[in-house]
Amino acid sequence: MVGYVYDPIFTEHGSDEHIENRFRVEAIDQVAQNFPLRRYDRARASKEELSTIHEKHYVEWVEKAYEEGYRFILNEDTLLTPKSFEVASYAAGSTKPIVDAFARGEIQRAFLNIRPPGHHAERRTGQGFCIFNNIAFMARYAQKRGFAKVMIIDFDVHHGNGTQDIFYSDDTVCYFSTHERNNYPYFTGSIEEIGEGRGEGYNINRPYGEYCSDEELLALYEDLPKWFDFDIVLVSAGYDLMRDEAISTAQITFGGLRHLVRKILDFAGDTPVAFLLEGGYNLTSLTQSVEITLQELCDV
Ligand SMILES: [Zn+2]
Repeated sequence: MVGYVYDPIFTEHGSDEHIENRFRVEAIDQVAQNFPLRRYDRARASKEELSTIHEKHYVEWVEKAYEEGYRFILNEDTLLTPKSFEVASYAAGSTKPIVDAFARGEIQRAFLNIRPPGHHAERRTGQGFCIFNNIAFMARYAQKRGFAKVMIIDFDVHHGNGTQDIFYSDDTVCYFSTHERNNYPYFTGSIEEIGEGRGEGYNINRPYGEYCSDEELLALYEDLPKWFDFDIVLVSAGYDLMRDEAISTAQITFGGLRHLVRKILDFAGDTPVAFLLEGGYNLTSLTQSVEITLQELCDV
């Protein structure tokens, strides 16, 4: 059985003029209706829980920022609208019912149709359309529920600087990212960034150049760490690596994406695996990409 989370609350942040908008999750939810998914209700992350991955000061700032007159985080990319704090708290918190369902053995795989996305949100600040780091939150919550070692795989076309930042000196969470070099956030994501202290070797970046092909991308996944004995696999599923997306030059086809999802599922084996929505802004490409993901997850 494949778990799924979506809630209309995720439409209540941001602006319809921004590329990271509510139409993304609404369109994906339409696609999801065609699959035999087990739906789970939203859940909210408390400020205390969010402080397991972000500085308390930042969480408290986000809570008050809109009413204090702030309209964005760090720069104009990342909007703050009246309900942003609430929506972002639900995006992170809605990972909890999925982890709980994994722990009960109810489901083995899941897709989380949530926004705002999370992988650019660092310990000290959100950025790049991201407010709270949903996948980092899910990793910490999974550990609390007994999944001691967490594998994070990030195929968004951008480097997940936030996820890297949060787990950089941690050897219980292994972060593996493929992304386009010289794209946002520009100053992180090199192959030399391998983690530090106890975390050395547990941060794996595999950047690619312009016009990345299916073959080039899939070859990088040969470097997934087979030596890491993970208990759960979490995937930052950013569909902005697809050929028809405007914000990168990557040339990934739907066939290539299907291979990638299969490769990740093979790698996960019998351990639970969850795909969390990150980027992907061309609605036609996005919905077809998620459909392929759901086909592979449901094995239909
Ligand atoms: Zn992205």
